[in-house]
Amino acid sequence: MTDSTATPPTDAELRRGIGVSPGTAYGPVVQVAPAVTAPANEAPTTDPEAALVDVKAAFDSVAADLEGRARHADDTAQQILKATALIAKDKGLHKAAGKHLTAGKGKANAISAAIEDYAAQFEALGGYFAERVTDLRDVGSRAIAAVLGVPAPGVPHFDVPSVIVAEDLAPAETATLDRALVAGIITQAGGRTSHTAILAAQMGIPAVVQCPDATQIAPGTRVAVDGDSGEVTLNPTGAYVDGLRERREKRAAALTATSGPGRTKDGHHVALLANIGGIKDAEEAGPQDLEGVGLFRTEFVFLSSDKAPTVEEQTEIYTKVFAPFGDRRVVVRTLDAGADKPLAFADLGPEENPALGRRGLRLSAERPDLLDAQLEALENARKATGADVRVMAPMVATAEEAAWFARRVRENGLPKAGVMIEVPGAALRAEHVLGDCDFGSLGTNDLAQYTMAADRMQGELSDLLDPWQPAVLDVIKAACDGAAKAGKPMGVCGEAGGDPLLALVLTGLGVGSLSMAPSKVSMVRFALSLHSLADCQGLAARALAAPTAAEAAAAVKEAAHEELSVLI
Ligand code: PEP
Ligand code: MG
Repeated sequence: MTDSTATPPTDAELRRGIGVSPGTAYGPVVQVAPAVTAPANEAPTTDPEAALVDVKAAFDSVAADLEGRARHADDTAQQILKATALIAKDKGLHKAAGKHLTAGKGKANAISAAIEDYAAQFEALGGYFAERVTDLRDVGSRAIAAVLGVPAPGVPHFDVPSVIVAEDLAPAETATLDRALVAGIITQAGGRTSHTAILAAQMGIPAVVQCPDATQIAPGTRVAVDGDSGEVTLNPTGAYVDGLRERREKRAAALTATSGPGRTKDGHHVALLANIGGIKDAEEAGPQDLEGVGLFRTEFVFLSSDKAPTVEEQTEIYTKVFAPFGDRRVVVRTLDAGADKPLAFADLGPEENPALGRRGLRLSAERPDLLDAQLEALENARKATGADVRVMAPMVATAEEAAWFARRVRENGLPKAGVMIEVPGAALRAEHVLGDCDFGSLGTNDLAQYTMAADRMQGELSDLLDPWQPAVLDVIKAACDGAAKAGKPMGVCGEAGGDPLLALVLTGLGVGSLSMAPSKVSMVRFALSLHSLADCQGLAARALAAPTAAEAAAAVKEAAHEELSVLI
C-alpha cells in the first residue's frame, strides 16, 4: 500500500504524536488558557470567617458551573463533569482551605494550599486517585479565578473552526467543546485511554495526544492534524492542505460507499458494534448503521452516585438504553468498579495497587447484593424491550470466577453470559475460562496494561500500551485459539477494535465482533470490505512475525489494500 497524502514540505514543521481519534483537520490554533494561580503578593487574611464564606462561594460557583455544563453534555462527559463537580463540593476541601485562612493566607493562596494538600494525598494513593489530580487542580484553578474575579481558565471564545491545543484538556473542557467549531484537538500530554482520547473519539473530533511542545505553538498558527497517523504539521503549504482535503473527501466517499453489517470481501461476517456509556450515547448510536452494542460500560452511569441505585432505578435506565436498539444485540458489562472507575457505593477501602486489587468481578464477589440487583434490573429491562441482551463480567481471571458469574446470570433469567478477557491469565486459559460461558470479549486496553505491566493512565507509557506490541498480539492470539477450541465466539471491545488495520489482524486471528466508538465503525467496515478472510489471516501472520510494535504495524500497512491509504 502506498501513502496518497502529499509529503509535507521541508519548510513546514512536522511533529509526531499519537493519533487517538480518526480523521484530518486543518485550522488556526486556539491555545487553551493555562490555569490561574494564586498571586504571590496577595494580602493576608484578617477575618478568616468572612474569607471562608467567599472561598466556599467560589467553590460552589465552580460546582454549579460544572453541573450546568453536565446538563448539556453526553453521558460519558456528563459523568466526568459531575464527578469533577463533586470535588468542588467536598466539605473536607473547604475545611482545609479554612485552616489556611486561619493561618493567615489570602483567599486564593488558601485555596491553592488546600488543593495541594489534597493533591499530595491523591498522589500518595496512586492509581485512579493520582489520575484525578488533573481534575483536582482544575477545580482549584477555577475556584481561584472565581475568588479573584478574573475569567476562568480554559478554552477562550472563538468563532471560526479551529484546532484546540492544550497541555492536557481537563474533562470539563473536552466535554463542553462545540463540535461545530472544534476542527481538531492536540494535547502535549495524555495517553491512548486518557479522558481526552475517549471523549474526542466519542465526539468524532480528530485528535492527537503526546504531541511534542504543543503548548509552544503560537495562537493563530495554521496546523494540519492527522488523527490516524498522529502527525501534526505546522504552517503546511497549500499543496499539503489540498492533499489533506482531497484525502478527507476521498475518505468520506469511501466511508459512505459501504454500509450494513461488517463483512470481509468474501462475505465473512464480523459484527460492528458500539461502545456506549449511558442513555444519551444509546440514543445517538441507535439510529446509526451498526449492529448493536458490544460494550455498555454500566459503571459510567453511576460514577457520581453516592448510594447504590435501586432495582427500579436501574430498570428504568437500562430500558431506555436498550430501546433504541430494537431487537439488535446489546452486550452489557456488569459494574466494573474500582481502580480507574471507583464507585462511592462500592468502595472496599484503600488499596496499595487498585489496578491489581478487588476491582471488577472481584468486587462483585464481595458485594453479590450489587450484582444481583443489577442482573435483576437487566432482566426486567430485557423483558420490557425485547432486546438481545447479553451480559458479561469485567476483570475475570479464572475459570471458577467465570462459571460463578455465568450461573448467577442464568439464575436471574438472563439467557447469555460472557466474560471480558482482559487479564493475561484468562486469555492464556480462554478455552477453560469460556467453558461455562456463551462468549468472550477482549478488553485490549486492560490486556495491554497487564501484559506489559504499564499503567494505562500514564501517557508517558503509551509505547508500551500500544496494542501492536508483539506480546499483546500473542496473548490475543492465545485467547482466540482457546475460544475456538471451546467453540465459543470471541469479540473485541477495547480501543484496538476501532483501528482499521488492527481490526483486520483481529479478524484474521478469529475475532467475530468488533466494538468501538460509533465514529470509528464506518472505517472498520470499509477496511473489512477490501480484504478476504484469507487476506486478514495473512496480515495477522505478518503482524505476529514482527519483532516490534512499529514493525508489526508497518508490515500490515504495507500489505493492506492500497485503497485503505485514504484512512491511515
Ligand atoms: C478494556 O479494558 O479494554 C475495556 C474495554 O474496558 P475499560 O476500558 O472500560 O476498562
Ligand atoms: Mg477494562
